[in-house]
Amino acid sequence: METKVFQFFLCIFLVSLPLPLPSHARPSKSKAENLTSFNFIKNLEGCHKGETIKGLQQLKKYLEAFGYLNYSPNKAHASDNNFDDSLEAAVKTYQLNYHLKTTGALDAQTVSQMTAPRCGVPDIVNGTNWILDAISAVTRAFNTWASQTQFRFSQSQNFASADLKIGFYHGDHGDRAPFKGQNGVLAHAFPPEDGRFHYNADYSFTVNPVAGSFHLETVVLHEIGHLLGLGHSRVQDAVMFPSIPAATIKAFPLPSHARPSKPKAENPTSFGFIKHFEGCQKGQTVKGLKQLKTYLKTFGYLNYSPDQTHANDDHFDHALEAAVKTYQLNFHLKTTGTLDAQTVSKMTAPRCGVPDIVNRTN
Ligand SMILES: [Zn+2]
Ligand SMILES: [Zn+2]
Repeated sequence: METKVFQFFLCIFLVSLPLPLPSHARPSKSKAENLTSFNFIKNLEGCHKGETIKGLQQLKKYLEAFGYLNYSPNKAHASDNNFDDSLEAAVKTYQLNYHLKTTGALDAQTVSQMTAPRCGVPDIVNGTNWILDAISAVTRAFNTWASQTQFRFSQSQNFASADLKIGFYHGDHGDRAPFKGQNGVLAHAFPPEDGRFHYNADYSFTVNPVAGSFHLETVVLHEIGHLLGLGHSRVQDAVMFPSIPAATIKAFPLPSHARPSKPKAENPTSFGFIKHFEGCQKGQTVKGLKQLKTYLKTFGYLNYSPDQTHANDDHFDHALEAAVKTYQLNFHLKTTGTLDAQTVSKMTAPRCGVPDIVNRTN
């Protein structure tokens, strides 16, 4: 089975989307005003190395801002209108990142891409080319799945027609599953035949996980499972286990050296509010328990009928106890039904946004 995959695009603080998206993936509230316009680049269309044209100085600033150009302060042409070797190299890298022909000149496609609204975070930071790193991590993860299944994947140059679409999103991004900052949800993916997989751009993802960041490839490996129709696993070491701690690498099969090196690595802010409920049990009414009910509903453990008593209050009722027990069962914890320390610790860890229980099957 041949499946066209993804065109990767990166947009961390999303203003509007730089690449065409299918209509259902567009932000519901498109932000019409784009105050920072890159329209000046239109006047530079056709420019190439060797020319001196007014406005190139501004283009250099643009490419510096997004990490493509880094003149030493006293270098010739650092702040003039000359299209020099450094500028040509920067344009080529830009074109490579955006899947354009690497002409090194300001051709129509390049100008059109550069003038599109984009996120303000640089594509290249401290010499690390974010886009290429992310694409290679995603490619490796797809290769891993291809090696373990009958699926075959290839990278599409056309985002709109790709079967699987991957991107970094911030906040409400139009799929009715808004990310809410660093609230513990690292990513989510929709089951077939939807094909969308979104990283939560408020978290830090890296190729080599360090404390406080998450492994790009481990997260995508997990989410591809959802794209292919898999649910969560209860096996802690499995790729499909819902929690993905910071600085942790998982792979198929799990080599011993890939186990979490720092299992207690500090997780950047997560579902920390749950800590407040440690020790809570049935019969109590504790301010904020309503939020815990929402958490358990989100991940499929709790399903009050809308008019049921305690559906939206802070009371630890029978239904909440049952939900906590099911959660504990899924996560191999003692099924006490109370918010004991182990349960709270597990609930506050960063995890995948896809529910563990869907339509009463887990
Ligand atoms: Zn999403
Ligand atoms: Zn998941």
